[in-house]
Parts: sequence; structure tokens; C-alpha cells
Amino acid sequence: MPSNSPVYSMALGQLIAANTPLGPLYENPITCFTPASGTGKLHGEQTCGALRSAASVHEVTTALHDATPRLCANCRWPLPADSPLVGFVDAVRTIRRLESYIGPEPSPDTDFDEAEEQDAAAALATGEYPKERAGTPDDEEKETEEDADDKEWERFKHARLIRERHRGHWRYLHGYMIESAEAVAAHPWLRSFAEPLQHALAVEIERERHALARLLRPQALLDTAAIRALPSPELNVGPEFAILGSDADQTLRRAWSEWQDSAATSWKALEDDHFAAYFVLHDAMKRRRKGRDEAVTALERLTAEWIGAARVVVAHHGRSPRRMVAVKLPTLHYDPYSAESRDPLTDWEAGIIATYQIAANWDTAAVALLLPSLVAEHLISDAGSLMPTAYLDAEESGLSVSVLLANWRPDETGRP
Ligand SMILES: [Zn+2]
Repeated sequence: MPSNSPVYSMALGQLIAANTPLGPLYENPITCFTPASGTGKLHGEQTCGALRSAASVHEVTTALHDATPRLCANCRWPLPADSPLVGFVDAVRTIRRLESYIGPEPSPDTDFDEAEEQDAAAALATGEYPKERAGTPDDEEKETEEDADDKEWERFKHARLIRERHRGHWRYLHGYMIESAEAVAAHPWLRSFAEPLQHALAVEIERERHALARLLRPQALLDTAAIRALPSPELNVGPEFAILGSDADQTLRRAWSEWQDSAATSWKALEDDHFAAYFVLHDAMKRRRKGRDEAVTALERLTAEWIGAARVVVAHHGRSPRRMVAVKLPTLHYDPYSAESRDPLTDWEAGIIATYQIAANWDTAAVALLLPSLVAEHLISDAGSLMPTAYLDAEESGLSVSVLLANWRPDETGRP
């Protein structure tokens, strides 16, 4: 009888192996084609090449556990959307996908040698970009110095690329781990099958996390945590901003808020993060020339003041005790229009998690972080709805971090 439900075509023979636990689907009937002799492989398609030489072909219906060792690896089976096999086979596929991400071979995306990693860490420990040289070189010195400068810029660019790759791979692995946990939650009898793969993947995730953390600066992450707490600055617009005419006040307000938004979500040192403010000024000056340099210098002075104010907040929090925070990791979002995955974590959030994670619970995609109090406050107050967060209290409850984390149900309770 023709069915209106869509039909899926699934490569059962490729995905279900003799060691795949079938759980309640053990006796599930499955329709196959087989040569008249009744021996040999079972096929999903009557047209399978392996059946071409058979004198005649029979259709047989057999229990899944009987069929499993004999399924043809080249065939696909048409399954109605409401077949319990559809979700099950999908879950097995999701779990078996982990096999590609574990093992001794590094991912081609993050296959950097130790010398490269070390050099990247050494470069990024000083900032995002090479420091400018002091003094004015003569002509001959200038040429050699320009060469050296180019090399330095390349070196920092490569270091930033290594950091981006580690972050990207780490976050992709989170996604695969979370999907495999969801597959197990929906098919609990697959747990024993999934666990060794998940343990191996957890090791890879930790490796990537450490590689990323090594390329970040805790001090920069801490400074950033102060940015949202800053009050709007007094902007006394003087003659140095004459180039902006009557728009000066409005332009500087916008420069401040763009600077604040950019600095509060970044893992860069505050000194390396002045572009957002500069671009606002640059746009507002248009092509006017007179007074350009004065305005740029004055804006640099302003951002230096804002940075100074942030450092005061940091110093004020310096001695506060650390706080433990639970975070539910969001997965990457696939945007079908750009065909790209977007990470809902800001650079700063990713940096905080990479640097301060002390435990993970992959059943719930929750991690525990031990944070400087200022960082904890900023993380909790700024986290969007995509990323539930909560304070964990190990001292008062007397429970271990892993137990606290396992008990935390962000999806049911939201924030406490
Ligand atoms: Zn076949």
C-alpha cells in the first residue's frame, strides 16, 4: 500500500555492525533481497550489482539481529519516516562519526608542529600585532628594518591563524560530542557503544582546549571583564575635534559605545582593540583634511583613559575570591544562506572557557569554570539565552564539582 510519509534511504550495512547494540529493535523486521539460494548477503535494493548474476532474487523479511551480520555494505534500504530504524540508524551514524576525530593522527586543521605552537604562544603573549619600533632609522637601516617588520607581521598573522584553527576545531568537536550525547539520550541502549568513543573524543577536546588556552592571555581576558561595568565617560569635546564640527559630541558617543561593544567581547589586550573607535572617527571625518591628526591623537588619548578606567575596576576586584560558574555550551549555528557555521560564543567567552574550565559533563554539555570574580560577574550578566549560566556553590553544598555539574539542569530550571 503506498504511504504518504516520506521515505528515507539508509545505508544500514555501512552503519550497523555486529557489535552495534540493537536494544528494543533486536526483533525489528527488515525487508531484504537475497539470491534464491538464500545464502550470502542481504540487499536493500533489488538492483544491487551483487545480485546481477543471481538466477532469481527473493524478497525476505527477517529480524534485524539476524540480518545484521549479512547486510550488504553497498546497498541502501528505503525506510518510511515513521520507522523506528530511521532515528536509530541516524543515532548510530552520529556516534560513529566520532571515530573520524579520535586517534593518534592530528586533525589536518590543527596539525602544527611544536615549534610553531611555541612561537605562536611567544608572539601572542606580547599582543595581537608586532610592537612598533622606537626611533627613526636612516635609509639603509630602514630597508633591513622593513624586511624584518614584514617578517614580524607574517609571524603574528600565522600565530593568530593557529589560534583561530584551534578555537574552530575545539568548537566543532564540542558539536560532535553534544550530538552524540543527544543520540544516546534518545537511544539509551547505545550508551555502552558510545562511551569509549566519547571518552577518546573528550581527550581530543581537552587537547584542543589546552592548545587554545596557551595562545590566550588571562590578563587580557580579565581586563575585558571590566568593560561593561564602566560608566559612560564624560566627553568634553575640545578644539582638537574641530574637524567633526557640530557632530563631535554624537560621534564621540558612538565611538565610545562601539569601542565598548568590541572590547567587551574580545580576547585581545585592550591596547590592541582601538579600531572600533577609530573607524567611527574615520567615517565621521569623511575626506576632510584639516585637523585630522589632532582628532586621531585626541581619540587615542580618550581610549587610553577608558582603558585606564577599566584597569582601576580590575585592580579594585583584585583580591575577591574566585567563583565557580557552570556554563552550558552552545553549539555552532549553521547558516544556510552563507553556508557557514557561526559560533554563538564571543571570542571572550570562548577564551574564558578555554582558560578556566575545571570540569565537563558531556551528558548535559555543561562545563564548570573557576573564575576571578569580575570575570564571573561579566560572564553571567552578559551571557545570552543561548548560553545558560549559573553559580555553583561547592563549599556550602559540600559536593564535588562533577556532582554539582551533573545535578545542574539548565534546560529545566534556567537560571537560579
Ligand atoms: Zn547490495
